[in-house]
Amino acid sequence: MAAPDPAHHVLRSVFGYETFRPPQDEVVAHLVAGGDAVVLMPTGGGKSLCYQVPALVRPGTGLVVSPLIALMQDQVAALRQAGVRAAFLNSSLRPDEARQVEARLRAGGLDLLYLAPERLVLDRTLDLLAGVPLALIAIDEAHCVSQWGHDFRPEYLQLAVLAERFPGVPRIALTATADERTRGEIIERLALAGARLFISSFDRPNIRYRIQAGQGNARDELLRFIRARHAGDAGIVYCLSRQKTEDVATWLAAKGVPALPYHAGLPADVRAAHQARFINEEGLVMVATIAFGMGIDKPNVRFVAHLSLPKSIEAYYQETGRAGRDGLPADAWLSYGLQDVILLRQMLADSGAGDAHKRVERHKLDAMLGLCELTGCRRQALLAYFGEQLPKPCGNCDNCLEPPETWDATEVAQKALSCVHRTGQRFGVAYLVDVLLGHDDERIRRFGHDRLSTFGIGTELDASGWRGVYRQLIARGLLSVDLDGHGGLHLTEACRPVLRGEERLELRRELRARRDRAPRGAGRTSGAAAAAGFDSPADQALWEALRAARLQIARDQGVPPYVVFHDATLAAMVQRRPRSLDELAALPGVGERKLAAYGEQFLAVIAAEAGPPA
Ligand code: ADP
Ligand code: ZN
Repeated sequence: MAAPDPAHHVLRSVFGYETFRPPQDEVVAHLVAGGDAVVLMPTGGGKSLCYQVPALVRPGTGLVVSPLIALMQDQVAALRQAGVRAAFLNSSLRPDEARQVEARLRAGGLDLLYLAPERLVLDRTLDLLAGVPLALIAIDEAHCVSQWGHDFRPEYLQLAVLAERFPGVPRIALTATADERTRGEIIERLALAGARLFISSFDRPNIRYRIQAGQGNARDELLRFIRARHAGDAGIVYCLSRQKTEDVATWLAAKGVPALPYHAGLPADVRAAHQARFINEEGLVMVATIAFGMGIDKPNVRFVAHLSLPKSIEAYYQETGRAGRDGLPADAWLSYGLQDVILLRQMLADSGAGDAHKRVERHKLDAMLGLCELTGCRRQALLAYFGEQLPKPCGNCDNCLEPPETWDATEVAQKALSCVHRTGQRFGVAYLVDVLLGHDDERIRRFGHDRLSTFGIGTELDASGWRGVYRQLIARGLLSVDLDGHGGLHLTEACRPVLRGEERLELRRELRARRDRAPRGAGRTSGAAAAAGFDSPADQALWEALRAARLQIARDQGVPPYVVFHDATLAAMVQRRPRSLDELAALPGVGERKLAAYGEQFLAVIAAEAGPPA
């Protein structure tokens, strides 16, 4: 066999991995050969290695433009752990520290330099860089150049200057944002028309999607879910309002789940402190608005839960994508209810946006609702939305695992719709349900609705059953919600065939709150261990001991635990129980530097847990 090429050598000796994940190999080869690239890869796909490896193979320093300080610090810490000479230049450095980094750069002492975009485009910085050999320029989170996205960074627009200033240096732009418009903007605004485009599948097979219509208290269901499947794990819980993040965080903490709130209304220092704890501790749950997420690189976020409906499939995909970057099993859990649908529609109507914009947003919300009410494979639908075909149902979403029952709801729907019609298309769900159930109510009598033919004809379902029917009718567009703030329902054109009996309607059977059962062997141990299949007490004990050793090292060095070793590496230690440095070196994620620095220590933990030879 031929000697390994330099890229594979770097992959093994520095990062401790055996093989590239396609298309990493092609991207790396293209850059090493001096080409430009645009890389679209989902979160967790392995974008970093696409530029880190060629930066180490090519002579000179690799520049990485990154929008967030926290992200840079993390990446640099992780690279240093692997023995790479990396540094960053951003506003968190004191002037003397920045001067030191610049001196190292000039002396050829840096393999990788991370820069904030606003810093990079300063004349001073550009002049400095002109004087040193550059291996490549990577532009991370390249979608920040898009004015339409919510991560827009005006400084990114100035990055086109890099093409003129450093004509011979290969450039690579990377993003996890899949849509075509953003892709076009990246290519145009970053002057990458000649770049080769690499698009990988956006599937995240290790994420299990679960979407349920809230029956009663979503908060209680969340707690059950966390206790059953994710005790001791890090996770993110998204809520719509700031107040709710605080309420839910306090409540979870009172129930024994370590949790903190995060939203844009908190003072900056509190936000930063909460974020730092999330990154540096093992099992913290962050209860947040969508203000939290970008720049969170933590690979072992084991679940992302939504206590309200995201505004679009794009948002849902991006938010859930923060789970399981490390490739180990992770959960995306969503509970939503009728109120969410009504609230989001109203927020949309009240926003100052123009009509065309509202129409687009409304379509996006409808697509999200469609995903929620779907009875087929969620992953197929999700990927289809992004233009990707998954030939077979995935086997790893709620609908694949527990196919929902449907029932012929035609008659029930007719009753629900005609009740809307007969009460004059101005009442909300609560009132309509009262009429259907024949409740004795002052308002109903005042309007004379106790004399309607639909009064009291709905005894086959209880109130929550009827609410479920109305939610599904709204989600399917047979009813629309009044946007004046009172939530009155109207019939739409789409309901006519059902009302006239020309079309049958199948609805999803609403399950009584499904009890999340704990997987076998999940007691005190974390969901990651359980997910990795450690159900013997000895495996669990070793897993916890390895995590404790990692946390101690991380604390001593002031870095997040996952930059010492990823969960996947610890899991491999449990599975293979290496007894020598050579055996340890064969595990994924153990490069030369980490082997030398931590090898003996982890071998000692493994030996101690194994106990005396039998
Ligand atoms: P992204 O930036 O695309 O979200 P990362 O670069 O952070 O993804 O990589 C995600 C995870 O996959 C990391 O834990 C990384 O160590 C791991 N990884 C990336 N490439 C490989 C590979 N070739 N072999 C094994 N693990 C890899
Ligand atoms: Zn599926």
